[in-house]
Amino acid sequence: MALLSDTDVVNVPLLDLVAQYRAIKDDVLPALQAVIESQQFVMGPSVPRLETAIAGLAHAKHGIACASGTDALLLPLKALDLKPGDEVVTTPFSFFATAGTIHNGGGTPVFVDIEPGTFNIDPAAVEAAITPRTRAVMPVHLYGQMAALERLLPPVRGGELRVIEDAAQAIGARRRIDGQWRMAGELGWATGYSFFPSKNLGAWGDGGMMVTSDDALAERLRRLRLHGGAKQYHHDEVGTNSRLDSLQAAVLLAKLPHLASWSARRRDHAKYYDQGLNDVPGVRTPVVDPANEHIYHQYTVRVERRDELQAHLKAKGIGSAVYYPVPLHLQNCFAHLGYKRGRLPQAERACREVLSLPVFPELTYPQLDYVIETIRGFYR
Ligand SMILES: *Cc1c(COP(=O)(O)O)cnc(C)c1O
Repeated sequence: MALLSDTDVVNVPLLDLVAQYRAIKDDVLPALQAVIESQQFVMGPSVPRLETAIAGLAHAKHGIACASGTDALLLPLKALDLKPGDEVVTTPFSFFATAGTIHNGGGTPVFVDIEPGTFNIDPAAVEAAITPRTRAVMPVHLYGQMAALERLLPPVRGGELRVIEDAAQAIGARRRIDGQWRMAGELGWATGYSFFPSKNLGAWGDGGMMVTSDDALAERLRRLRLHGGAKQYHHDEVGTNSRLDSLQAAVLLAKLPHLASWSARRRDHAKYYDQGLNDVPGVRTPVVDPANEHIYHQYTVRVERRDELQAHLKAKGIGSAVYYPVPLHLQNCFAHLGYKRGRLPQAERACREVLSLPVFPELTYPQLDYVIETIRGFYR
């Protein structure tokens, strides 16, 4: 990079899905063609094949595909049969769907603070927030590293409390618990994954998947995604239409064999950034809990003068994003819950300091060097 002058601009997008498409189109296009030839667009054979594959990846018994990651959280919440005032404890530092689904599922989100290192929900804060109205805990495995699930499960034991994992950003992530690798989605009562195109395993449109090892829950979720009827035109309860279409399932099946190597490439890039950035004053590289294998859905640093840095990166052709600028407890739509600024200081601070950098698998080392050099130059 020493050859570049200060005025040279290299384009490094935050995410380049075209590069991935070029690499896999010869696998994906024939799979799509096969679905089109069969004309089985809804609940065709690619859907149960994907369900089995994702359940296998998660070490779970059942996979139930649905229309989005949002629905993959909403339907398990519906299966809790929440009554007005029932509480679900969750993190304020996540994508909106985490809290939106709790609200739409009939519950009241109870926000507790995060651990400053991992950005994930603080288990001690969860324990302190449990009341007789608490029905479930919804941890988010943010940016691709798992929350400290083993510390969320004990208060749940013996009670009626359920753990619903928001693994939208964490497909294939794992955590060593009591000496054993446990997958995101393995230990929760139910888990939701998202196949939104920008996720590590992305469809060519919307899609989601629920996994569970609870037989009764799996049956209920299958019903809820098909208008609540186990048998066509016989409805035991009111569900909705939330199916994954066969074309999306075919895309995902063709991509799935690449997921592990894509995640490994993301980890390599993260390590390279760590080495290139960890001595920069003003930048804190991501903290990985030693129990975790991170899949780096995002590579997110904490920085000083964040907005200025982001503008500088943009001027230099580098994409970046703030996930997330406003914590969920301070969103206007939850004003009625009465959270004031300052109540969850770690989450609020993270919102001011975080910046996610390009980490997608197809990035090249010259691109990574350019991002590192540009950040170093900004703080020099
Ligand atoms: C993407 C995402 C969702 C929602 O997934 P969609 O497929 O977009 O509905 C939920 N939670 C988190 C943490 C996410 O990142």
